[in-house]
Amino acid sequence: MSERANRVTVEALRTDITTEQVDAVVNAANSRLAGGGGVDGAIHRAAGAAALRRACAALGGCEPGDAKATPGFALAARWIIHTVGPVWRGGGADEEVVLASCYRRSLAVADELGAASIAFPAISTGVYGFPPDLAASVAVRTVRTTPTEVRLVRLVAFDDATLSRYLELLGSWPAGRQDPM
Ligand code: ADP
Repeated sequence: MSERANRVTVEALRTDITTEQVDAVVNAANSRLAGGGGVDGAIHRAAGAAALRRACAALGGCEPGDAKATPGFALAARWIIHTVGPVWRGGGADEEVVLASCYRRSLAVADELGAASIAFPAISTGVYGFPPDLAASVAVRTVRTTPTEVRLVRLVAFDDATLSRYLELLGSWPAGRQDPM
């Protein structure tokens, strides 16, 4: 599904983010940018683990809520924007603020790179334990309201429940992907 807000088209879809044909793919990384499991592992494997590990090592880590870019190497995407989501600690540790910052900072880095299209995974909703429905709300709200030169934002779900939540929040229910009007 799609919607236009702030001249940004926001879409939700279910797919493997490593296959996305966008300018920049966002990685849900850890603060050492050391690679890991989940979407991080998938991106490393698809991009070429050795080259991506070397590029990440040169970045000197990344704070939760911040974002840093590397080339996309073997991905179709030209860049990978690595952001570090919050670990869910029950909701009293500014987790929502930090998660919103991940989306905002990733868009800011995309602007610096001149990326016109970007795909986000559901940051922090895997091993970091952020409640998926709340994370989807933060994601949609933040990409809708952040001023950016990016023209296409894809919110990539890896499961049907997350996709349904995105579609609901984006105002298209029942599910279905549409081109923007
Ligand atoms: P975090 O440590 O930030 O929680 P995870 O990688 O564990 O990151 O999970 C984040 C989200 O990414 C989860 O919703 C997970 O289902 C999803 N995910 C895992 N692999 C992929 C993939 N190849 N493409 C898109 N999303 C993925």
